[in-house]
Amino acid sequence: MNLIDQLSEKQKHIHSLESIAGLLGWDEQTLLPEDSADQRQDQNATMAKVIHQAETDPEIGRILEQLETQAAKHETAPILRDARRDYDRSTKLPASWVEKRARLCSEAYHAWAAARKNNDFPSYIPYLQRHLDLAKEGAELLGWGDRPYDLQIDLHDPGVDAATIDQLFSSLKSDLVPIVQTIVNSPTKARADIFKGFPVAEQKAFLEDVTASLGFNYKRGRIDISLHPFCSGNGADTRMTTRFDVDNPLDSLFSSIHETGHGIYEQGLPLDSLHNALGKAAGMGAHESQSRLWENQVSRSRSFWKYYEPKFRAAFPKQLEDISSDELYLAINSVSQNPIRVDSDEVTYNLHIIIRFEIEKKLFSGELAINELPEYWNAQYKELLGIEPKNDAEGVLQDVHWSGGAFGYFPSYCLGNMLAAQLWYAATEQLPELEEDFTRGDFSRLLGWLREKVHKNGARYHLLELSQHATGQTLSPQPLIRYLKERYLPLYS
Ligand code: ZN
Repeated sequence: MNLIDQLSEKQKHIHSLESIAGLLGWDEQTLLPEDSADQRQDQNATMAKVIHQAETDPEIGRILEQLETQAAKHETAPILRDARRDYDRSTKLPASWVEKRARLCSEAYHAWAAARKNNDFPSYIPYLQRHLDLAKEGAELLGWGDRPYDLQIDLHDPGVDAATIDQLFSSLKSDLVPIVQTIVNSPTKARADIFKGFPVAEQKAFLEDVTASLGFNYKRGRIDISLHPFCSGNGADTRMTTRFDVDNPLDSLFSSIHETGHGIYEQGLPLDSLHNALGKAAGMGAHESQSRLWENQVSRSRSFWKYYEPKFRAAFPKQLEDISSDELYLAINSVSQNPIRVDSDEVTYNLHIIIRFEIEKKLFSGELAINELPEYWNAQYKELLGIEPKNDAEGVLQDVHWSGGAFGYFPSYCLGNMLAAQLWYAATEQLPELEEDFTRGDFSRLLGWLREKVHKNGARYHLLELSQHATGQTLSPQPLIRYLKERYLPLYS
């Protein structure tokens, strides 16, 4: 067997173990009986150990060393690049560090949940401090000691660093704040209380019709119910979830479309390479670009609703009879000043992310101490969004991410929004009839374009290269600004 095939064997083994662990995780959040959680914790811990063993197999190190002495072939270069990165990250962190972090994640999660419930930020400070210290220690061990925050970003979006994000976000911020001000000062207000009594069975049938039309393959995936919607698994078996509220059908519909975007991406990755870089997603930002593009650019558009509004009304004739087309479209594109990130719209969402990025950057550089977080948080919300959280539970304690030590994760959401808009304009320039397609419920041409430009490349290109490859342009906030102006200013001016 040649060396690349030997590496492939090892990677297939790891991929198989990871997909089993993923299925256990999916089951835990969708079907697991409530008193069966203890056994699942043991099973998860066992799988984590087995996966770590497989990832740190010294044989992989030996194969990589030999492969690296050979001249890199174009096709295998991305495979080697990512395999080396992953192998180093698994072997350079000692078991003691990994265990300490796992224990801290579990303790900090409970501390965060209690702090949020009791609106008690001070009780959470020691856990955040330990996470920050541990992250810096991990950066030292991995050779990123002088750039610990860049490592956190790289873990989610390989090749992106804080300086690059800084530049993108500061330009986005200065253009976005006035747009938000125009919208919130507008006398036009979307009404959220117009939806009442939408039966779950009909909602499910409607969203399955929509998501299948967009391109989700239900023969290689499914949708179930969980507390928070997510998409897990891979292209061979994609598991999405949603949630239902009889008085808020748009939440379920749009979160399902969002997860469908993730699912469609996974299903478009090359099936024969799921175990290596050629069949894996290009990173979190790229993933988010796919979910956001289908959710926002496509499914909040007039052309989409030209086709789906009659179907929506046919599914819910009584519930929609007093709601006009304009009211419905405005509710679909509702913008408001909300202190909570996950409840916010696609316009203000980016400001929530910019605030978190600034905070993480300052925490890692030492410019901001953890006990100063609430004050800084509230001041930023006041400045950028014009609102002040009522308390820390509604402010700095709202997100779960930091309790799991997930720093550098938030920027991906906003990078994804930027790439989504950039892909959208590249696609519509090359295929000017796209929106016309949507009015007939046909999304196949857009899907084909994304398959070709994004999905089939796997992680061959990371985020910044992907933007260049797919759109011919470096990643920029300008397409996002253009899109938000075109979509929202006519509605709210
Ligand atoms: Zn997402």
